[in-house]
Amino acid sequence: MAYWRGFKQYAVDLGLKVRGNLGISASQRLDVVALAAHYKVPVLSFDQIGCPLEALHHFTVSRWGKVSGYLLPVDGQLAIIYNPMHPKQRIRATISHEIAHLILNHEFRVLATGDDGCIFGDKDQEDEAGWLGAELLLPRDAAKRAVIDGISLGRLSEQFDVSVELARWRTNICGARKILQRARRY
Ligand SMILES: [Zn+2]
Repeated sequence: MAYWRGFKQYAVDLGLKVRGNLGISASQRLDVVALAAHYKVPVLSFDQIGCPLEALHHFTVSRWGKVSGYLLPVDGQLAIIYNPMHPKQRIRATISHEIAHLILNHEFRVLATGDDGCIFGDKDQEDEAGWLGAELLLPRDAAKRAVIDGISLGRLSEQFDVSVELARWRTNICGARKILQRARRY
């Protein structure tokens, strides 16, 4: 993973600032559609853009895991097109990820998100969007709080409307477990 020096703290601060602009604190669920609307990006599902049936079947059934969504121009403006067959929490992560690219002023290309991030994306930019996208959904401070308060992953994932996997990842990397272990030792 190649993040520029200081990127993670930058993402923490930026995530909280964006949440502040949306009128929510670090402990509240993020409305990803409101997030996209804040950046004037419409959010549509594949079936809402008149996607040919054959293509829709390809993306949503045959290779349903491959494509989560796209960030692409529709009628002259950027829009996020997501795969409606995916679980809701994965769709939320896709939208947050795509908006993170915009917030970070990443070079615009048509971005298609798949199992390993955006298919046409630059590796470093993918890592950054992945990090900020997750920071927006479940802020580091909230993950820390949850670990310290002994909140279960299930409850945390429900509170923030994210997958248990994302909640686990965020709590593992937030640094709180180390603090707790150190505290127990002394
Ligand atoms: Zn991406």
